[in-house]
Amino acid sequence: MRRRWAAARGAAARPEVRWSRRIADARAARDAAARRRVRRTVTWREGMRCEVDGRELLNFCSNDYLGLSQHPQVIAALRDGSVEGVGSTASALVCGHHALHATLEREVADWLQAPAALLFGSGFTANLAVLQALLQSGDTCVQDRLNHASLIDAAKLSGATLRRYPHNDAEAAARQLATHEGDGLALIATDGVFSMDGDVAPLRELAALAHANDALLYVDDAHGVGVLGPDGRGSVAGAGLSTRDVPLQLATLGKALGTYGALVVGDADLVGHLAETARGHVYSTALPPALAAASIAAVRIARAADDRRAHLAALVAQFRGGASNHGLDVLPSTTPIQAVMAFDDRIALRMAQVLEDAGFWVSAIRPPTVPEGRARLRVTLTAAHTESEVDTLVDALARARDAAVASGARPA
Ligand SMILES: *Cc1c(COP(=O)(O)O)cnc(C)c1O
Repeated sequence: MRRRWAAARGAAARPEVRWSRRIADARAARDAAARRRVRRTVTWREGMRCEVDGRELLNFCSNDYLGLSQHPQVIAALRDGSVEGVGSTASALVCGHHALHATLEREVADWLQAPAALLFGSGFTANLAVLQALLQSGDTCVQDRLNHASLIDAAKLSGATLRRYPHNDAEAAARQLATHEGDGLALIATDGVFSMDGDVAPLRELAALAHANDALLYVDDAHGVGVLGPDGRGSVAGAGLSTRDVPLQLATLGKALGTYGALVVGDADLVGHLAETARGHVYSTALPPALAAASIAAVRIARAADDRRAHLAALVAQFRGGASNHGLDVLPSTTPIQAVMAFDDRIALRMAQVLEDAGFWVSAIRPPTVPEGRARLRVTLTAAHTESEVDTLVDALARARDAAVASGARPA
């Protein structure tokens, strides 16, 4: 009996062998395409200077656009907010909702001039939760092709039909929307600022389209809030739109605000529905109250940070001027995200290495984060950088491009 068991099990490859083969094959494919990914460990940081693997580098790839992650008032708020304890101890609907969370929601809603806001553990979770709570089978979700991965995954989870239109093409979005039939509802989702290209969505056109088709427009403004628009209210306010045009938008706290977490902001009825039904809210432990305290401090600073935004905008203009003088291929963008195109994965990696050898940290972004043949160096500028630092970066980028091309890291 026991021998028969062993023979039967041996007939098919043992599961652990099949799993390890699948993983090894995938890794070999990434190796062959120069697509291995490694985490680098930061051992120290001060402003945009940091130590990575024992070497000091000037960071040009963080999303800390306003330099708030190390602001003394934000750090003090985190410390003071933790005296009652660290964890929130439960989800918001059980007993995890603290007055600090409520204050943060109120202050972000007030800042973005929206009736209501709901706090989530992260932007990724929020996007999954929002589309899952609003959409169902028979609905249509129309999305920009370059939307963040979390929006794409969210639509798949929701059971709605996902239709993707060419990047920033509002007319194509209109055609996608026209394919929608039956009794289902339609939702248009777009990044406000595209995370890898840095350009801004045609929000006015999309809002008009949504209005004309009774569709709901959801804008993920992870990279716009704090940076763009009056008082840093983001790309929606920057386009002159309000909650009436964009009933829901996502503001994340881990980028320009320098802390962690995210809020869905907008129409009170929709936000109220999410508070009771969004799975990522209902079934996940509320953020530590101290983090909410730090975020409240960051929001207050960000609202009034026109000086930081002006300095940042000047650095963006300076970077673009310098890059153009050097003949660097930079995608059109007026935001702190500046994509220096390498196209080929190996050229991107080689450029990043040459930059690192020169003391700059800029990450090479390759597929599947960007489409095939669109590898790049994603430079992010922040208010904590100086003009002379940006000048030295531009010179180093031009040298890195020349070195990468000369080294024979040519397009495959
Ligand atoms: C970073 C990002 C997210 C995810 O936000 P997290 O708070 O980091 O989980 C969502 N959407 C966009 C466009 C992003 O860039």
